[in-house]
Amino acid sequence: MSKIKLGIVGYGNLGKGAVEAIKQTDDLELVAVFTRRDPEDLTIDDPTVKKVHISNASDYKNEIDVMLLCGGSATDLPEQTPYFASMFNTVDSFDTHAKIPEFYESVNEAATKNNKTAIISVGWDPGLFSINRLMADAILPSGENYTFWGKGLSQGHSDAVRRVNGVKNGVQYTIPSESAIEKVRSGENPTLETAEKHNRVCYIVAEEGADKAAIEQEIKTMPNYFADYNTEVNFISEEELKRDHSKAPHGGFVIRGGNTGSGHKQIYEFSLKLDSNPEFTASVLVAYARAAYRLNNENQFGAKTVFDVAPGYISPRSAEELRRDFL
Ligand code: NDP
Repeated sequence: MSKIKLGIVGYGNLGKGAVEAIKQTDDLELVAVFTRRDPEDLTIDDPTVKKVHISNASDYKNEIDVMLLCGGSATDLPEQTPYFASMFNTVDSFDTHAKIPEFYESVNEAATKNNKTAIISVGWDPGLFSINRLMADAILPSGENYTFWGKGLSQGHSDAVRRVNGVKNGVQYTIPSESAIEKVRSGENPTLETAEKHNRVCYIVAEEGADKAAIEQEIKTMPNYFADYNTEVNFISEEELKRDHSKAPHGGFVIRGGNTGSGHKQIYEFSLKLDSNPEFTASVLVAYARAAYRLNNENQFGAKTVFDVAPGYISPRSAEELRRDFL
C-alpha cells in the first residue's frame, strides 16, 4: 500500500515533534519541511527529507497529500493556513480560542474554492479536550463543564517573570488547584473564579546581588499575571534551572459533573499528563493527517474541526480491525 505523503510547514517545537511522530508510523511518509529561514540552516537527521524554502511550496502540489502547519497561532497561522489550504489539504493547531470562528471562515473559503480539506485547531486544547467537552455536555445535559490546565510551563507568564528587575532567568508553571478539582469531582458543581482554579509556581534565577525579597514582591503583586493568584516564588541556580526546568511538560483535565434522571451524580473526566507538550500536540496533528487525506478522497472539502471527523478516520487500522479489537 502506498504511504500518505506529508509536508511540514514551520520548523519550531511543533515541527520537530511532527518529524518524530511521523517516524513512528508505517502508513505516513515525510517528503519535505518548509521554512521561512534559510532551509540549509535546519538540522533534520533524515537525509531523504527535503528542506525547502516556503516560497517554493507550490512546486510540491503533486508530491504532498497533506501539509502539517506548525507555525505559531498569533501571527503565522492566520496567514499561512488560508494560503496553504488553497493548494494542499492541511492540518493545523490554531489555538487562539476566541478567534477560531473567524479563522474557520477564512480557511473554509480558501479550501472550499480549491477542493481541499483543512482540519483546523487540532491538538489537545483545542482538540482532544474540545471533543471531551462536547461529549460530556451532550451526554449529561444537566451539569457543568470544567477545564483545568497543568502542571504546565506557561510561555507568557515565564516571559513576564523574566522582565522583572533583578531576574536573570526563570520559568512559571500553572498548576491546577487540588482543592478546586476535588470540589468538582465531588459533583457539587461549584462556581469557581479563574484564579481559584489554578496556582502559579515560579523558579527564578536572580542576578548577582539582587534583592530577592523585592523580586518576590514584584512578581506576586504583578497585575493580571499573578496578583489574583496564589503564587509561589522559588529561587534556584542557573544549573538547576537548566537541569530541572528545560522540558515543556503540560496537561490538564476536562471534568463534567452532571445529574441523570433520578438525581444520581455522574462524573465525566478526561485527563492528559504530558512530558512534552509539542511532541504530543504534533502526534495529534499527524494522526489527523490521515483524516484530512481520507475526507478529501471522499470529496468532503472545506474547513473541518475535530467535531466533524469520525474517530476511525484518524486511525491507521481498518474498520474491521477496529471493530474486532477496540470496541
Ligand atoms: P515555535 O515558536 O517553536 O515555532 C513557531 C514558528 O517559528 C516555526 O514554525 C518556525 O517557522 C519559527 N521558528 C521556530 N524556531 C525558530 C528559530 N530558532 N528562529 C527563527 N524562527 C523560528 O512554536 P511551537 O512550535 O512551540 O508552537 C506552535 C503553535 O502550536 C503555538 O503557537 C500554539 O498556538 C500551537 N499549539 C497548540 C496546541 C493545541 O493543543 N492545539 C498545543 C501546543 C501548541 P519557520 O521554520 O518558518 O521559521
